[in-house]
Amino acid sequence: MKKLVVAIDGPAGAGKSTVAKRAAQALGYTYIDTGAMYRAVAWKTLRRHAPVTDALILDVVRDIDVRLSYHDGVTHVFVDGEEATDEIRTPEVSHIVSQVAALGPVREKMVDLQRAMAKEGGVLMDGRDIATHVLPNADVKIFLTASIEERAKRRYLELKDKGMDVDLAGIQVDIAARDKADSERTISPLVRAEDAVLLDTTGLSIDEVVERILGLCR
Ligand code: C5P
Repeated sequence: MKKLVVAIDGPAGAGKSTVAKRAAQALGYTYIDTGAMYRAVAWKTLRRHAPVTDALILDVVRDIDVRLSYHDGVTHVFVDGEEATDEIRTPEVSHIVSQVAALGPVREKMVDLQRAMAKEGGVLMDGRDIATHVLPNADVKIFLTASIEERAKRRYLELKDKGMDVDLAGIQVDIAARDKADSERTISPLVRAEDAVLLDTTGLSIDEVVERILGLCR
């Protein structure tokens, strides 16, 4: 069977990575989490312990080496050879990642890497601009969304499960701010591609969403 290229976009907390991982496993495909790449740049920027300015971010991205290694259902993230898989998920990183991802040179570097990873097919890639910009010729395009309340609740439970000290209201404010920044930026904003299938996951179980994605791939 032909190895497909599957693009999944949508706002923060829509459940993209959870369902994409499961669908990739069922298909025997590689899962590529592009948000993790922007988070990696944000994480390295915070490590400079300096005010987060565009100039600092551009300096950080100039010689950064970001690698994703996906095995056993986990995307391991390496920044300049050092593993940062868990560290890129903190609220501090989430707070600045949209500023990082709005910069042209950051996006150019990450998009080049993303396209190279998808070259052989058999991939399921999630992000914000995959169907519109990174892989416009993808075989299957899905725009995944859910209500803001449900997305905040999911993210809250996910972080709490990892032992992080988080509050629901704060997460909802942060998600709303990220969606606004991601949708309103000039370069590759978060927008549903005209030919993407809209999948609203509010009230659906993970299994139900995965089934719908697999159905679209069949
Ligand atoms: O998917 P996740 O929520 O981890 O993504 C973190 C951030 O990375 C997003 O809020 C967005 O600013 C940025 N991003 C992006 N383009 C992508 C994937 C993520 O701009 N393809």
